[in-house]
Amino acid sequence: MPRTSPLTCNKILGNFFVVFVLMVISFVYFNVINIYGPRYEEPIIKVFLCTFHMSLFMLLWSFFKAMLTDPGIVPPLWGFYMGDSENKRRRYCLMCHVFKPERCHHCSACNRCVLNMDHHCPWINNCVGFYNRKFFMLLLVYVLLSSYQSVFSLSFPVYEKILKVANTRRVDHYDDLILFAAFSLTLLLTITITLFFKFHVRLIMTNSTTIESMDKKNSVKDTYNKGTRANWFQVFGRNKLLWLLPVTGISGKPIGDGVIWTQENVNHADDDVPDNENDMRKSLTLSGTGNIAQILAKENKIQGSPKIGPAPKGFEQFRQAELKKKEESDTKPSSIDSQSFPKYLNRMK
Ligand SMILES: [Zn+2]
Ligand SMILES: [Zn+2]
Repeated sequence: MPRTSPLTCNKILGNFFVVFVLMVISFVYFNVINIYGPRYEEPIIKVFLCTFHMSLFMLLWSFFKAMLTDPGIVPPLWGFYMGDSENKRRRYCLMCHVFKPERCHHCSACNRCVLNMDHHCPWINNCVGFYNRKFFMLLLVYVLLSSYQSVFSLSFPVYEKILKVANTRRVDHYDDLILFAAFSLTLLLTITITLFFKFHVRLIMTNSTTIESMDKKNSVKDTYNKGTRANWFQVFGRNKLLWLLPVTGISGKPIGDGVIWTQENVNHADDDVPDNENDMRKSLTLSGTGNIAQILAKENKIQGSPKIGPAPKGFEQFRQAELKKKEESDTKPSSIDSQSFPKYLNRMK
């Protein structure tokens, strides 16, 4: 049984940070309303307040969706591809007791493995992963939209106050200081989040994640890059009508299941693999189409995906026998014939 618990100490403490984030949003909101609320009957102010409230509503909707949506858990009984290298099989999480699929990482704050993990975000007290990445991106979009509106709207009264303070050389009201603080805070957040947003857009367009972009060992970039359009669909889904809404539905789901990934560039797969591992992998490479699990599925006429699940019964003995045979005769080809494993199973019956 996985030893993971959804309520870790970090997660509980993270809720205080979420309250802090909501307080910052409220602080900026009340400063804007304090200035423009009394003037709501002016047509231009009415339009501004309308768009500002819409952005804020979308911000909060995206915020709670990103915070409350499970980023993706490793499916139960997840095993490994039978043709996978030992290197991949070593990706076993000792905390959750599962084999980690590609692009899956263990988050120490959430104390669990997360599919296609991008990073753990303290702002939403949740990991950004396969199922909530779109919501996180929309959160950034609406935070920026609201921030730009706040900076723009606060800049006029701040400019007037600065002129006044420069002329009189004194601050009349305590409110003026709060206004300066709100403007400075919003400006700082806007600049920071703009850079952060640009970074994340670039990651999505190349089908990468924050963790992968920091992985210096990964010398070949764009491992999962399938082109801008396909990469966008992978996160935002195919339904264009849902791209700006923090909902997925059936048509707006991210493409794939977050478990099986096809790599565009796999040449670097041999990096970091011990010398003897390559030999073992070659010896286990099947000459036919597909892997042993697929052959077994064909033999047993099993429908469905053969990719997930533990090693088939008898495979370990089969592998040992094949390796022994190879050791005895180096002249024989190193690959295992695709028909040999089913035949071996029949012999064992
Ligand atoms: Zn784990
Ligand atoms: Zn996390």
